Amino acid sequence: METLKGTDIQKAARLLKEGRLVGLPTETVYGLAANALDKGAVLSVFAAKKRPSFDPLIVHLPDISHVSRYAYADETSLRLIRGFSPGPVTFILPKKKEIPDVVTSGLPTVGIRIPGHPLALELLRAVDFPVAAPSANLFGTTSPGTADHVISSLGDAVSYVLDGGPCEVGVESTIIRCSEGDVEVLRLGGLTIEAIEEVLNKKVTRIKLSSSRPEAPGMLHKHYNPGLPVHIVDFDSLPEVPAEKRVAVISFAPREVEGNVVFNEALSKTGEVSEAAKNLFGALRRAKDSGADLIWTEWVPDEGLGRAVNDRLKRASTE
Ligand code: AMP
Ligand code: MG
Repeated sequence: METLKGTDIQKAARLLKEGRLVGLPTETVYGLAANALDKGAVLSVFAAKKRPSFDPLIVHLPDISHVSRYAYADETSLRLIRGFSPGPVTFILPKKKEIPDVVTSGLPTVGIRIPGHPLALELLRAVDFPVAAPSANLFGTTSPGTADHVISSLGDAVSYVLDGGPCEVGVESTIIRCSEGDVEVLRLGGLTIEAIEEVLNKKVTRIKLSSSRPEAPGMLHKHYNPGLPVHIVDFDSLPEVPAEKRVAVISFAPREVEGNVVFNEALSKTGEVSEAAKNLFGALRRAKDSGADLIWTEWVPDEGLGRAVNDRLKRASTE
């Protein structure tokens, strides 16, 4: 059966009601959406992605008035939800019993997000249930930035893809948790730390990745695997590689690179980290499709969305 894409909200809503899976365009990356209250549908999300059951799903809502149906939000969370939603940010909140345990991998908390994409919001308003949606790719691989990426990653497992065009932000949502007025960032993403700190007028805490910390399940050291070895290099002093190895270059700004280079793409033409974020996953996919044996890439400036890009590069890298 061929997976269809299009902009038919009613069709997408009907499929979700029937317990099927739908590709959801958001401003960050495409999601694989299911009715969060339908345990069977949620289980089929885990199956389609080959996602381990310990890695909880984010629940999507159309607006702030729905939050209190499913979670308990403290004052700081509410303030940030009002300030930044719809937008590329997920809030970890104590969950209410309406959200099935299968969605949260048994955790007492749930990740809540109001996505900033008009088609996503239309779909969320067209159904009378919350929508669970992780990124629409196989577990551990690069996230999809277009409807076609969803189809090539998941094929028939997804019944329909709402086509909202290429994703504006390109990296996943920032995940934050508020505790007693302090804000912790569990995952760097589309909402910058600088923007959060400006609103709060104080520093946020970054929770470092660690396999022993249960706070951010699913935040694995190795993720975003493009299917090729990824080496983070200094383009001014390149490592030696055997002459027959075909290299894909993904630089921050455009640059000429000597050697057996079969692919050469810059993440940003203008030197902007937001442009790099938007292009990152697409560039990794194109590098894989180029027939290269390995990828050479480099850190981008570690500010704003550049921090999220560097986080993804680090976890995609082979070292
Ligand atoms: P994604 O696959 O991009 O949808 O991201 C889902 C990620 O959100 C998971 O891998 C977790 O790291 C994080 N997450 C979701 N729900 C929770 C939760 N209740 N507590 C902590 N982290 C969560
Ligand atoms: Mg993901």
